[in-house]
Amino acid sequence: MEKRLIRGIHGESLLLIGESANYVNKYLPDSKVVIITDEEIYRLYPDFFRSYEAIVLGQGEQIKNLTTITSIYEKFVEYEVDRSTFILGIGGGLVCDIVGFAASTYLRGLHFGFVPTTLLAQVDASVGGKNGVNFNGLKNRIGTFNQPDFVLCDPVFFQSLPEKEFRCGLGEVVKHALIADAGMFDYIENHIAGIAAREPKVLQQLVSDSVCIKAEVVNRDERELGERRLLNFGHTVRHIIEERSSLTHGEAVAVGMVVAAQISQRRGLLPDAALDRITALLTALHLPVQLPLSHDEIIDNMVWDKKREGKDLYFIFLKDIGHAVIEKIPIRQLQAFIN
Ligand code: NAD
Repeated sequence: MEKRLIRGIHGESLLLIGESANYVNKYLPDSKVVIITDEEIYRLYPDFFRSYEAIVLGQGEQIKNLTTITSIYEKFVEYEVDRSTFILGIGGGLVCDIVGFAASTYLRGLHFGFVPTTLLAQVDASVGGKNGVNFNGLKNRIGTFNQPDFVLCDPVFFQSLPEKEFRCGLGEVVKHALIADAGMFDYIENHIAGIAAREPKVLQQLVSDSVCIKAEVVNRDERELGERRLLNFGHTVRHIIEERSSLTHGEAVAVGMVVAAQISQRRGLLPDAALDRITALLTALHLPVQLPLSHDEIIDNMVWDKKREGKDLYFIFLKDIGHAVIEKIPIRQLQAFIN
């Protein structure tokens, strides 16, 4: 088991990589604990919920809204949650985002922790302290920055994960390699079969590398005022694709990364061979690499990107595999590139 620490403005977050979820009690306080999960995890792993009061959510991005948050607050009132109560989220990125927001806002902030159960949640959503819900169809519009006390990543959960969800997490794994670690990219290229077979050793290595990269970036820039923007590589176009097509988060990330890499190559930053390797790796991992929307639809919706500043946008370009750079460029220029 490996341990990492994220030092947030409001507190530290302990990352436990490769720890068994059966030992989660070791990290829970003696006070009252309420677990929040979704109906699938509740069905698959009933043992976790026997000794605690549980709130069971539905599934799907459509429940990530303020109505669900209100229903959680109502349960908190019913369960007499007070400031000493600890909230544990067990589930994918959806559960982590919702639980982090509900816990951060009820009674001006409760302590909380995560046991992420999808690959995407282990390598990305549970780590870094961003939480929140969608608003009027706009992704993650309402939320806070607030670190969980701990995140416990157990590879056992990957065994029950549907193939589509598994591939979803691989998109974010490749993203971490692309922005910061060429050696990790080589490792993924050389372990396609092990990844497909979900070998625990291989997957734990990928989770560990991803979490290290994300933790280091977040430690230097928790509030996304500078370097943390690197983690948005591929996400400018991803937001639009995820809002307007049937692709999942990780699939939309894959397409977004290809578009960002293509733009980087056309600007003369990224060598042709690197673009080919990126496209080949994503294809080998069965992730999509083609835009599911028209160029016009992408261009028209770019102005709504929540990361824009006036007429400019921070866009993440690749200089090489393992080396990303942030540039503030006019939205019009980016639209011209896509066109
Ligand atoms: P998800 O949480 O919706 O889970 C996908 C499906 O897999 C669900 O049906 C769930 O019940 C099921 N599932 C979860 N774990 C399982 C397991 N071990 N075995 C079998 N089934 C399992 O999806 P996700 O991809 O984990 O998360 C997506 C969400 O994460 C999006 O809302 C996205 O915005 C958010 N996200 C947040 C951040 C962040 O930094 N806060 C980063 C990336 C993504």
